[in-house]
Amino acid sequence: MTLDQIAGAAYYASGRVNIGVVMGEGQAVLIDTGLDEGGVRKVLQAIEQAGARVVAVLNTHAHADHCGGNAFVRKRTGAPIYAPPVEAALVQSTQLEPFTLFGAAPFPDVDTKWLHAAPSPVDHLLEGSLELCGLTLEIIPTPGHSINQVGIATTDVAFLGDALVAPELLERYPIQYCYDVLAHRRTLASLPNLRQTWFVGAHFRPTRDLEGLVAANRRNLERTADAVLGTLSSPAGTEEVVAHTTEALGIFFMDPPAYLLNAAAVKAHLSAHVREGRIGFEIQDRRPIWRRLP
Ligand SMILES: [Zn+2]
Repeated sequence: MTLDQIAGAAYYASGRVNIGVVMGEGQAVLIDTGLDEGGVRKVLQAIEQAGARVVAVLNTHAHADHCGGNAFVRKRTGAPIYAPPVEAALVQSTQLEPFTLFGAAPFPDVDTKWLHAAPSPVDHLLEGSLELCGLTLEIIPTPGHSINQVGIATTDVAFLGDALVAPELLERYPIQYCYDVLAHRRTLASLPNLRQTWFVGAHFRPTRDLEGLVAANRRNLERTADAVLGTLSSPAGTEEVVAHTTEALGIFFMDPPAYLLNAAAVKAHLSAHVREGRIGFEIQDRRPIWRRLP
């Protein structure tokens, strides 16, 4: 494993989930830790070989593939862990992710490691800016994909977590998980204002073409929003909306975790359509029903 330098003090370890590293003055900061100890173990070795010591872990958000290596890094290095407000509670109590997706105590089919990371303590909340490795790191609010996600930036490079994903993943997973479509839309509108010259995510490689990436992600979001609305030519129940939206977007197979993630994203779109006055929600014959408003 080698760390690839992006620009200045900013590096990343490429993988199924990219892990960011900022190094300076013999110190290193990890930006997210991947799904489990497998990936981050090699990153710790590479940092050690570079002669640096891990002094902090910064989590962009609490999804299992971003904080799952925290516990291992903590055990190995003792480094303090930082997470955004609200997300911090989920990093510490990782059973909340399958709980929030399923809505009750999960069972094994919906309690996989992709949804349920090893828990870890959180020592500090991630807000404003912080001084580490002799650098000022800027914390950029990017809520929407999750409840209170943040990006983390040096002067040259913004680490954007899951605020954006690579175009090829938008093709492979046509419905992107989203907690709050309206917040995510505002985040997408704000990202082009960033001053950095390089951008990297957990699921996209470093790029300078921020506007192109934002545009692809925005098209994906609006295509899903339109597909959800398109299922409501007549009033329909939640499960019908999920089934018809996934079918319309070419998703023909889902395992239980994929179903939960897609259903949650569809519900985020339903919520946004209600809040913007396009559809209404009622309980009819003991069933939840969504209907287009005139
Ligand atoms: Zn995520």
